Amino acid sequence: MIRSIVKDEKFLAKKCKPATKKDLAIGQDLLDTLRANQSVCIGMAANMIGQQKNIIVVHTDLINLVMYNPRILQKQGEYETSEGCLSLKGVRQTKRYQHIRVQYYDATFHKQVNDFSGLVAQTIQHEVDHCNGILI
Ligand SMILES: [Zn+2]
Repeated sequence: MIRSIVKDEKFLAKKCKPATKKDLAIGQDLLDTLRANQSVCIGMAANMIGQQKNIIVVHTDLINLVMYNPRILQKQGEYETSEGCLSLKGVRQTKRYQHIRVQYYDATFHKQVNDFSGLVAQTIQHEVDHCNGILI
């Protein structure tokens, strides 16, 4: 189901709780909401649709990838960039890493560890920050 986007910075500043198998429907809502906003958005975290759980979706060349409880294990290649956010106005400066290794649970709640780089890695870092209550 397509949900509306939360823009309340106080709400978005709260740290999200771990996701469980019971939260698979939230992942589906995130996928639906990302698809509906795809022209302006390449990633989304669950708190942006009002659910304070560690769940994100990220647009890649192949698919929109849902990640439950994503955790960045390694990061490499620091750089400065500027980003926008569907929940915020304007663009802000931030620090990101070119290459990251991420542990997460996939759409069927199986544990995965994968490496990402470039824009997909940047999007994951932005959305993981959201789950930790950090806005750019
Ligand atoms: Zn954002």
